[in-house]
Amino acid sequence: MRRKLAAGNWKMNGTRAALSELDALTVSAEGPEVAICPPATLLAEAVSRRSDIAYGGQDCHPHDAGAHTGDVSGPMIADAGARYVILGHSERRADHHESDADVAAKTQAAWKAGLSVILCIGESLSEREAGETLGVIGAQLDGSVPEGATAETLVIAYEPIWAIGTGKVPTTEQIAEVHAFLRSSLTERFGEETGGAIRLLYGGSVKASNATEIFAVADVDGALVGGASLKAADFQPIIDALA
Ligand code: PGA
Repeated sequence: MRRKLAAGNWKMNGTRAALSELDALTVSAEGPEVAICPPATLLAEAVSRRSDIAYGGQDCHPHDAGAHTGDVSGPMIADAGARYVILGHSERRADHHESDADVAAKTQAAWKAGLSVILCIGESLSEREAGETLGVIGAQLDGSVPEGATAETLVIAYEPIWAIGTGKVPTTEQIAEVHAFLRSSLTERFGEETGGAIRLLYGGSVKASNATEIFAVADVDGALVGGASLKAADFQPIIDALA
């Protein structure tokens, strides 16, 4: 019932030449949904290049327009043809000091623009080692997700900060524990139907060699993939592992 989602986060990588990677992906309407979140400069060209892939931005400003040099708004991302926007990625939280309240405001702006939000949460290594993981994640979920979430407008990506770009991956038991906690938190807050239908992605060093094991974990509905989404040859086996 929850359609699987393989989402690629290209981060600050890729010029127009990188769009040829899109041509090399095999996707099917019956298989998992495939989304690519390229840099904002590539969004519109990606959309016109291939329409059976969904696209997303990597951030949006909480305001629709105005004097905010260097920022991109939700309506702009939607106008480029994107369906999604990643919000609250740990790199944004760290590099741009984004708080849960900021992420909630951006989420509301994205929803107003008709976008679906891939909202990232995750603990640091020191928080995990201190046994604070579920507390940290619960607080991020409460603070970042506004009222009114639906399965169409919200995807949660659990991304332990220590697993991003490091090659380190949590055990399947650790992923299962967090995803079960997310499912029960969402169900409690938004009701059985909505809470049960919101998709939960795992992110952090997902690659071809660990995807099958991670996707077998209950309540893992797909992945948010960074490094291994840049090349079609690396991303395709991850897509295929979801089929
Ligand atoms: P990674 O990044 O797959 O390169 O670890 C994941 C992410 O930051 O979304």
